[in-house]
Amino acid sequence: MPGKIAVVGSNMVDLITYVTRMPDKGETIEAPTFRIGCGGKGANQAVAAARLGADVMMVTKVGDDIFADNTLRNFADAGIDTRHVATVPGMPSGVAPIFVEPSGENSILIIKGANADLKPADVNRAAEDLKRCALIVLQLEVPLETVYHTIAFGARHGIPTLLNTAPAQPDLALDRITEATYLVPNESELALLTGLPVTTADEAEAAARVLIAKGIQTVIVTLGAKGALLVTGSEVRLIDAVAVTPVDTTGAGDAFIGSFARYLVESGDLDQALRMAVRYAADSITRPGTQTSYATAEAFADTLA
Ligand code: ADP
Repeated sequence: MPGKIAVVGSNMVDLITYVTRMPDKGETIEAPTFRIGCGGKGANQAVAAARLGADVMMVTKVGDDIFADNTLRNFADAGIDTRHVATVPGMPSGVAPIFVEPSGENSILIIKGANADLKPADVNRAAEDLKRCALIVLQLEVPLETVYHTIAFGARHGIPTLLNTAPAQPDLALDRITEATYLVPNESELALLTGLPVTTADEAEAAARVLIAKGIQTVIVTLGAKGALLVTGSEVRLIDAVAVTPVDTTGAGDAFIGSFARYLVESGDLDQALRMAVRYAADSITRPGTQTSYATAEAFADTLA
């Protein structure tokens, strides 16, 4: 049985309204369709890994509202260990009202709610279980102090950590994430992190080398339709994307991280994990939605056959 993956991160409930147009200020109009989805980068990555059969534990916080029930049910359905999902009395859960226009363009509000209350003390409360994990996965939708604390915890206890630097966070302190084992930015996050332009694979390599020089062991830059670039102290490799016809690319980055974590923990083989991650992320963009687009292990195996 491969080791357990812990995701220390966010959960959100997506409140998706399909509009014919956005209302003007002071105007009330009808929208034809509404849908509730489960999201949050942490939860998305946990669900992707769990759908692929990984043993996943989520360290997160929900509010004491109906959205929390929805999130907990979703975790249970995915088989995710929720013993470290805490409820914060008097706080709302994280929600994301999303407005989709007929052109497909999205306008998104993020209300972090209880996610903003995930503190270093919550990580400490999960410490004994985290120490038994094979990998700890982090993103930037929870307080940065919690992210820094968890990376330091992993380094202290010899547990590999993977930091996905999404969403882009201008306040992220590079000096406090250098102990992360794997850093996974997309192009714009890498540009923000290093102050360098990142529009080509060559530029991505140059910027990733800055991070390697700072002490990060492994940088994986996701390059959208160009695939992913692996940069370590001793190698640079471009893993080509798989050609698909995109239907909905939301959540592709999270599919990539969740599947990468799952295959890395199983095989310990970075190359194989990356090859599977570009395939899984590509498969996910052939279907609409975020978590709804993540294949199970069986369905994914069929796409590989
Ligand atoms: P994010 O959504 O976080 O910005 P990317 O756009 O870099 O992340 O996508 C993450 C991964 O998903 C990429 O590394 C790639 O493997 C896959 N991917 C994204 N867009 C496409 C695409 N149009 N065709 C094939 N694969 C894609």
